[in-house]
Amino acid sequence: MSGSQQVSFFDSDKVSLTQAKVFIINALSNFDEALGARATKILQDDNRLNIVEQDEPSTNIMMSCSPAGITIDDLKAMDMYIEDDAFRKKFGPYFTEQENRRAHAVINLEYHGTVESVSWFAHELGHAIADDVQVDNDKTFRDFSWDELEQQAYLVQFIVAAKMIEKNPQYSIDDFGLGSIQSSRERVSQVGHARDLYEQALEKTEASRTDFVLGVMSGGEVSSQVYADRHHTPRIENN
Ligand SMILES: [Zn+2]
Repeated sequence: MSGSQQVSFFDSDKVSLTQAKVFIINALSNFDEALGARATKILQDDNRLNIVEQDEPSTNIMMSCSPAGITIDDLKAMDMYIEDDAFRKKFGPYFTEQENRRAHAVINLEYHGTVESVSWFAHELGHAIADDVQVDNDKTFRDFSWDELEQQAYLVQFIVAAKMIEKNPQYSIDDFGLGSIQSSRERVSQVGHARDLYEQALEKTEASRTDFVLGVMSGGEVSSQVYADRHHTPRIENN
C-alpha cells in the first residue's frame, strides 16, 4: 500500500459491521438517494437487525429476512417452515424465531467480516427495503412470487457488489455470491434477471432511477413499464 494513497476500504482482513453498514449506505445512496435513505433507516434501527458477528462461519449460516407479519402458516405454505426443535438445533442459540409479528421486516444474519458476508448482508437488506416499500404501497410479501422477492434482494446486492469491485478491482462478481455458482437453477435465473434489472437501472437518469427501483420493489404500480418488461404479458387478461 503506498502511504500517500487513501487506503481502500477492504484492505483490512476483516470488515467490521459498522464499516459494512457505512459502505452499504454509501453505495446505495450513490446509486439512488431514495434507496440510500431507506437503507439508512433500517441499518440505524437495532430493532430491525438480528445480527451475530462470528469469526468463523457456523455449520448452518443464518442469512434471512423475515418480512413484516410473516406467520408460521405463511412459512408452511411456502414450504419453508422447520419444526421448532430442529430450527433451534440448526440456528440456535442466537436465532430461534421463524415468524415475525412486528410491523416491519427484520434481518437475521450471521456476519463474518468477509466481503462475501458484506454482500449477503446487502442481499438481506434488499429484502427488508423491498418489504418496506411494499408495506408503504399497501402490499405484503404475499403479493409476490419467490422469484420476484429474490430479484429485489439481488438487485440491491448487485449495486453494493459493483461498488466494492469499483473500489477493489481485485474482486470479481464471483466473490460476492453473484457468479455462476449458485445453489439451484432457480437461483441462477433470479441472479440473471437481477443483473438485467441492475443494468437497466444503471442506464436511467438519476431522476427516473428512483421510480425504476421502486417499481421493481413494489410490483409495477409505480413503474408499470418494469412490470410489463419482466412479465412479457399484457396486464389485462380475462383468464
Ligand atoms: Zn433472498
